[in-house]
Amino acid sequence: MSFLIDFLNILSKKQLQKLIIIQFLIIIMSIFELISIASIAPFMAIVSDTSLINESPLIHKIYNYFNFKNDNDFMIFLSLIVFSLFIVSVIVSLFTTWRLLRYSQKVGAEISISLFSHYLNQDWLFHSKNSSNEFSRKIFEEVKRLTGGIIQPLLHLNNKLILTSFMVVALLFYNFNVAIITLIIFGIFYLSIFLLLRKKLYINSVEISNLNKNRYNLIGEAFGGIKELIINNNFFLFLNQFSSSNTRFAYTSSNNQAMAQLPKFIAELVAIGSVLFLIIYLLILNNSGLNKLLPTLAVFGIAGFKILPAFQQIFASIATIKGNISAFNSIKQELSTAKKQNSQASKILKVTFDDFIKIDNLSYQYDSKKSFALKKINLVINKYSKTGIVGKTGSGKSTLIDILTGLVHPSEGLISVDMQKIKSENAKGWRENIAYIPQNIFLFDTTVLENITFSNNFNEIDMNRFKKAIEVANINEFINTLNDDFNSKIGQRGVQLSGGQRQRIGIARALYQDKPLLIFDEATSSLDSETEKNIINSILDTYKDKTVINITHRVENLIHFDKIIVLDDSQIINSGTFEELSKDVKFKNLLAY
Ligand code: ADP
Ligand code: MG
Repeated sequence: MSFLIDFLNILSKKQLQKLIIIQFLIIIMSIFELISIASIAPFMAIVSDTSLINESPLIHKIYNYFNFKNDNDFMIFLSLIVFSLFIVSVIVSLFTTWRLLRYSQKVGAEISISLFSHYLNQDWLFHSKNSSNEFSRKIFEEVKRLTGGIIQPLLHLNNKLILTSFMVVALLFYNFNVAIITLIIFGIFYLSIFLLLRKKLYINSVEISNLNKNRYNLIGEAFGGIKELIINNNFFLFLNQFSSSNTRFAYTSSNNQAMAQLPKFIAELVAIGSVLFLIIYLLILNNSGLNKLLPTLAVFGIAGFKILPAFQQIFASIATIKGNISAFNSIKQELSTAKKQNSQASKILKVTFDDFIKIDNLSYQYDSKKSFALKKINLVINKYSKTGIVGKTGSGKSTLIDILTGLVHPSEGLISVDMQKIKSENAKGWRENIAYIPQNIFLFDTTVLENITFSNNFNEIDMNRFKKAIEVANINEFINTLNDDFNSKIGQRGVQLSGGQRQRIGIARALYQDKPLLIFDEATSSLDSETEKNIINSILDTYKDKTVINITHRVENLIHFDKIIVLDDSQIINSGTFEELSKDVKFKNLLAY
């Protein structure tokens, strides 16, 4: 069970401590159950043979101590004691079960949080290679399977194992022969069923994981491209695949569930058979009288009443764990790295930006590509300067921004800010200086105000800064046309907005952040040239204290910029002011573009 070690390894210190407390509760619960069941034996013995009251010194003492007048009163007293013991045992069991369920759900919730945080903390390259559908599946589906299919059964298993071993030991002392025979019968029965089903359970478990992956991907992809699918009327492909995955999923899951329940019914038959056998064995072969038999039968009856479901639960738990182990395996790696990351609390290394950003002899190559995306780039961007970057699609402009923002790190050469080298350790700190606006603005399903300020707390929001931002981004007039002004909701991904409106909200968002460095990566591509010019000029006028880097295809709107950099085929082929460059042929070509 190397799985158990792996599982304990991903738990935090606090979770482990709580687990120990639960473990302790489980032992107490088992002891109470054992005492309550054991109390049946002397009770039955006395009921079937009242002469025992005088024969046993202890019982005699109790009888006299409470001053009982007759045996019936004493029997009622004893039955009340037995019943009270059962009540206490039930209360302890209820409490323990509640804590146990709460523990497993809580650990599940915490695992979801740490997975989400782990994925959020990954760098850009990791995200560019992996699908977000995969992350949602793991955060929800696999964690759900981990909680309900591994942690809970594990605790139940543990619980029942302790209970049954206590009871078995007690029964062995009580009546060795009967206990050992019953044990062997049920032990062999459950073990052989388990060995029989084990492989199938695991195969199904892996299939459930794969089918789930498929289902999540299909949903993510379909809704991601819903407009295209509706217009081109080709969502049948998705629907067909989804329905076949779903049917198989239902089939496999129910098979696994049924396999866990299967032995229960057969076990009941075995149990009835055993009781009948027991009666015959004791009555006929042992030649004992009914009053001798009654206590034994009662104890075994009630013990069986507890042990049989416990056996069943042990089996079902192991089967469930086997059937869900792939869920744990699929997030194990992430969880252990997440745990390591959490323990070395990430401190943000501050990077000051007072003078310049400098790129020296920098080259960059994506893992998946043969050629360089950037070759031997040298560049200085002074604080407060306005720099334009132009070039054909695929010339490396966005890659250059990824490097400038510390999202990816150069294969060769270096980038520094005020002589501080930007590395993965301080990239986060460096980015605190940057407001970045991509071509595709992401919007979330809330108000305009919240989308721009990233805050829903009115006390926190600087309304003047907000007003200035929406004015410069030229989005205030549009906001005025909305029903609830800036408190109007814009749907997820902003489908209710035009591309240009979205981009202007993105610009307002960046301006509101009030960071010293503003980077636009084709952030104005959906606007008409006139609006773009107005916004750019307005930014240059209003935010003089900012350093601006702007990638655009409309070169003519960079007239007022200090420097324009022309990228072609991964290299800087020229740079200068608009005027200086206007003699360059390649630059002129871009003008026409
Ligand atoms: P631009 O922004 O100028 O259009 P990019 O910087 O996006 O150009 O791309 C430059 C080159 O790098 C292109 O050939 C592109 O295919 C490649 N590229 C961009 N992003 C990635 C990525 N995440 N993985 C692999 N190659 C990429
Ligand atoms: Mg680009």
